[in-house]
Amino acid sequence: MQNHQKAIIDYLNSLIRTVPDFPKPGIQFKDITPLLKNPEALRLTTELLVSPFRDIQVDAVVGLESRGFLFGTNMAAELHAGFVPVRKPNKLPSDKIFAEYELEYGKDKVEMHSDAIKPGERVVIHDDLIATGGTAAAATELVEKLGGVVVGYSFIIELSFLEGQQKLAQNAPVHSLIVL
Ligand code: AMP
Repeated sequence: MQNHQKAIIDYLNSLIRTVPDFPKPGIQFKDITPLLKNPEALRLTTELLVSPFRDIQVDAVVGLESRGFLFGTNMAAELHAGFVPVRKPNKLPSDKIFAEYELEYGKDKVEMHSDAIKPGERVVIHDDLIATGGTAAAATELVEKLGGVVVGYSFIIELSFLEGQQKLAQNAPVHSLIVL
């Protein structure tokens, strides 16, 4: 990584607030709201998230509820791609498909509109943070069920010690700005 880019990443990292024991004991919550509030950081984050995908064809950016919507739509607009939301259950109004994934205790579920991706469309999956990778893996399942092709993953923060990348499509590169 160039020194210049490293300095930007360090700057963005300094604007992420770690909140201990939120939403439950033991979780170190990565709060991006200070970064969102800073106009320069907002612009730089979008620019860095988009940069690995500028030279490849992307038809849609799939953003994961809810913080994946914040930069996912910016990224889609910059890449001349569409934006597709993946949502928690019972939020999407039209015909939809779902995928389930394991939590520490029990299961969770995400949904996508059935007409959101056309067969063969090239998709980037984006979220603010990857932890265990369960959510991004479920989104991958949704895209692939509709015949889409995941061409990459994009995260602002990756908690690499949780090894979430292992659950993702193995032939699609993972671009994380801040790897912790
Ligand atoms: P996972 O499915 O385990 O990769 O979790 C990813 C989802 O949970 C993302 O939508 C994140 O926004 C959220 N998340 C998980 N862990 C954290 C954390 N430590 N701080 C902030 N968000 C988190």
